[in-house]
Amino acid sequence: MKGQRIYFDNAATTPLFDNVKKAITDAVENNFGNPSSIHALGRTSRSIIESARKSIAKELKASTAEVFFTSGATESNNMAIQCAIRDLAVSRIISSPIEHHCILDTLHILNEQGKVNLELVRVDESGEIDLTHLEDLLMSSNEKTMVSLLHANNEIGTMIDLQQVSELCEKSKTLLHVDCVQSFTKFPIDLSHLNIQFLSASAHKMHGPKGIGMLYINAENMVKPFITGGAQERNMRAGTENIYGIIGFAKAVDEMISRQEEYRSHVTDLRNYFKSKLSDWFPDILYNGTQEGTYLYTVLNVAFPPHPYSDLLMMNLDIEGICVSAGSACSSGVESRSHVLNAINVPQDHKSIRFSFSIFNTREEVDICIQKLVKIFEPESMHT
Ligand code: PLP
Repeated sequence: MKGQRIYFDNAATTPLFDNVKKAITDAVENNFGNPSSIHALGRTSRSIIESARKSIAKELKASTAEVFFTSGATESNNMAIQCAIRDLAVSRIISSPIEHHCILDTLHILNEQGKVNLELVRVDESGEIDLTHLEDLLMSSNEKTMVSLLHANNEIGTMIDLQQVSELCEKSKTLLHVDCVQSFTKFPIDLSHLNIQFLSASAHKMHGPKGIGMLYINAENMVKPFITGGAQERNMRAGTENIYGIIGFAKAVDEMISRQEEYRSHVTDLRNYFKSKLSDWFPDILYNGTQEGTYLYTVLNVAFPPHPYSDLLMMNLDIEGICVSAGSACSSGVESRSHVLNAINVPQDHKSIRFSFSIFNTREEVDICIQKLVKIFEPESMHT
């Protein structure tokens, strides 16, 4: 790892795969053409973009006409929500209190502006969606409704069962938008068997570059452009395409898919190893989020009991060369506690840290991190 730092913040962003770096460098050197130009260089760029779209559509079992490149998942999520309201007559959105800020803030603003009625489904203390409550909400109104939920929570790793949620939405003729930023390519997603109208993903969470993402829009629910002023992305998103980003995104998808099982087993092993070492040294810690069944195996969110050093824990880990987050990367610089941890009632006096892993991490790094935590906390003082 660069500069000997240990990077356990892979839910915030991930380092690029070597293949991704190579593909981007090659494109920077050789494929700078504007995909809208009709000369040879432009045509080369266009065909690169279309083959990237094809590999992403193939992975989702979607049609290429349903995949649109965006600047990242924040844009994809905004587009799905705002266009569904504007173009599909959605007047009510059901979401949850533990969504990413780019969903929750957008929904609250639209709700305050009177553009949509917002309802939040209950979650339990692990962050699991209360499906009975969701069903009640779905059945309680005839308004045109969309459900917008995270597939895998970026802070605590709890996941929804896509099949179950999609069936509930189908039964009530409700549209469904899922933010798959943390799960895309880490879990198989087969859109040909799911009633999902919108799906968001982002390259930089899966060893691709930043500033590139995608939105899947089901062909039967096509919306109008969110960004206007150009015919790019089949008139759906104006602006010269981020060709280097798109190339890197597609390369990262290909590598993630070809190594999906290896990735899952390596990271799951690390997470289990880290967890067992933590529990040995710090028997009083709590784990935030679901720890059984299916969960996002890249994330381990740990609540440390009150201790004089716990307030400065993230800073102390940083000094020791270990990169982690207190919550999502976007809010980690902010003093206030994460809305996700508040929603699932993590004790206020506990200090929560999100450790998130990738295929680049090793057991040795886990051992070093444990040693550093032991040094910071002197665990025996935790019981006094
Ligand atoms: N949704 C989730 C679950 C995320 O974790 C993030 C990034 O932190 C986003 C959306 C925003 O993605 P992007 O950085 O591509 O805008």
